[in-house]
Amino acid sequence: MWALAVLLGGLGLAAPVLHGPRQSPQIALTFDADMTPGMLQMLRMGKVRSYNPTELYRLLEQNQVRATFFLSGLWIEAYPEQARALAQNPLFELENHSYSHPGFAQPCYGLPGVAPARKADEVLKTRALLEGLGVKNRYFRFPGGCYAPEDLALVERLGLQVVHWDVAGEDGGQADPKVIVRNVLGRVRNGSIVVLHSQGGPRLPATLPALRELIPALRARGFAFVKLSELLGSEGPFRLR
Ligand SMILES: [Zn+2]
Repeated sequence: MWALAVLLGGLGLAAPVLHGPRQSPQIALTFDADMTPGMLQMLRMGKVRSYNPTELYRLLEQNQVRATFFLSGLWIEAYPEQARALAQNPLFELENHSYSHPGFAQPCYGLPGVAPARKADEVLKTRALLEGLGVKNRYFRFPGGCYAPEDLALVERLGLQVVHWDVAGEDGGQADPKVIVRNVLGRVRNGSIVVLHSQGGPRLPATLPALRELIPALRARGFAFVKLSELLGSEGPFRLR
């Protein structure tokens, strides 16, 4: 599989990393912190109270769960103190989820598009914001998982590895934590990269209660939580299922 990934990479047929090595029971919990201009406007108008669910970070800390956050640049700018605290927490790793969370390819779950000439900026602005927090940015995740082949090539040319997931919790718009728990437990395997969201707010009412069930349930199955760089570390990229 590794050889195949190298071969495809050599042919210019890059693909996102979807999971880590399958031989040991380590998994990476990853949380995307989305922030579009529209969400920011709701926040500024007081129509959304907060996109910063401090209880979620506290739950991870209390349970010593290592986790990776893919932050959008607008989220970092909205919550600079929180972003700094996450950056300084040794349990957590911070990575790049674009600047304004557009759909790089369309359609993409209703996300606004982005002009080709602006795409590099979407990556570089957030990399600079992460560097401002003292974080070395290694990975990038496309908003909504939407991209065209040339977008993947662009991100790799900018020196970042695209990391998506093999286990979607599908917490967006989901009010029932049991559904999220079932989505994760039904799909998780050794080496899985699990995607959930960490911006909270009205579209993510059940992420936190689901996580309260998931942490002990995943540990009971023998899984250890590691940061993405620990999962992917020296083993090389695992791009294909
Ligand atoms: Zn996102």
